[in-house]
Amino acid sequence: MTNQTTMETSNPAEQEVRDRLTRRPWPTTPIRSGAEVSFEFFPPSTPAGEANLVDCAQTLAAFGPSFMSVTYGAGGTTQDRTLQTIKQLASTEVAPIAGHLTCVGATRNTVDGVIDQYLSLGVRHIVALRGDPPEGHTDGTVEGGYRTAAELVAGIRQRADGHGFADEDFEISVGAYPEVHPRAASANADLDNLKAKFDGGATRAITQFFFDPDVFLRFLDRARSAGITAPIVPGIMPVNSYQGIKRFADRCGASIPTWLDDLFGGLDEAPEIRQLVAATVAAEQCRRLAEHGVRHFHFYTLNKPELSAATCRILGLAPTAARSSTNTTRTQVAS
Ligand SMILES: Cc1cc2nc3c(=O)[nH]c(=O)nc-3n(C[C@H](O)[C@H](O)[C@H](O)COP(=O)(O)OP(=O)(O)OC[C@H]3O[C@@H](n4cnc5c(N)ncnc54)[C@H](O)[C@@H]3O)c2cc1C
Repeated sequence: MTNQTTMETSNPAEQEVRDRLTRRPWPTTPIRSGAEVSFEFFPPSTPAGEANLVDCAQTLAAFGPSFMSVTYGAGGTTQDRTLQTIKQLASTEVAPIAGHLTCVGATRNTVDGVIDQYLSLGVRHIVALRGDPPEGHTDGTVEGGYRTAAELVAGIRQRADGHGFADEDFEISVGAYPEVHPRAASANADLDNLKAKFDGGATRAITQFFFDPDVFLRFLDRARSAGITAPIVPGIMPVNSYQGIKRFADRCGASIPTWLDDLFGGLDEAPEIRQLVAATVAAEQCRRLAEHGVRHFHFYTLNKPELSAATCRILGLAPTAARSSTNTTRTQVAS
């Protein structure tokens, strides 16, 4: 049999393709890179959604995530549901739980009250965000409230200190924007803002989702050049619904590469094929990042475990049978 990938050709474009194929490991062995993963969920609004989230968290807990986080609606719109979901997941003890918190449209008292509730639920990790102002508002800051995520980080750190937590015992994650936050004055201002969040006491940044791995790698280079040494974790968004992702990307300034359109075009009514393509895209994205030394991946699960689980397997993470099959924790959650 001829080894096609090592054959020379005088056509530069063809040679480029052959060289690229030669560089790829084959067969598609798991990356086995010592990957660390974390998963993000949103608080469900129905009993069926709650049951689904428990199943989803159980499935993904089998991959030994460093944490699972629950989002928080800007302006406190999901406050009760977020707290309820955190309570429910925390009781399963399957993974450390992080609570998201936003400060836009809320008084300092309200925000501080939520921090205290998180602490009383045993939460030792907050994902601190400004949050988006309501439609039609440009700012959303409340008189005397935390104006930015950097201020919120400092406030959380102060409050955690007040409760006797050393910095290493209480984690604060923040958002970062590889393609620049749509409302930032400039890319450099956005990076200065990220720096301010670390100066205020943040532990790590988690990025907005992106699809081109080079977008993240370039951003990481810029952050390192700007003196940011803390961990910056890529946010991986498996494509469950391509139309939904396009709308979301438009709102948050994430670009959709042409190749993604090519891959998902015409698959709106073909969910099985779409899932196969989506798993490949997420795995390839993680593989390329892993090749460049990235070891922690944060998955935006949208409360659907399949694509994140498939990607974890390709990253070389084996699910722990004890975690994935016992009903013990499930029973605890349901009770
Ligand atoms: C990992 C991650 C998790 C998230 N989780 C949630 C969540 O649970 N709930 C939720 O509601 N949202 C969430 N978001 C979205 C986030 O709230 C928005 O992106 C928000 O617009 C900015 O939040 P921030 O904390 O990054 O803000 P900041 O760090 O304060 O600002 C980020 C950048 O945006 C600029 N900016 C932001 N707002 C304004 C403004 N009004 N005027 C001018 N410039 C502005 C800043 O100057 C800065 O450059 C999440 C985002 C990420 C990346």
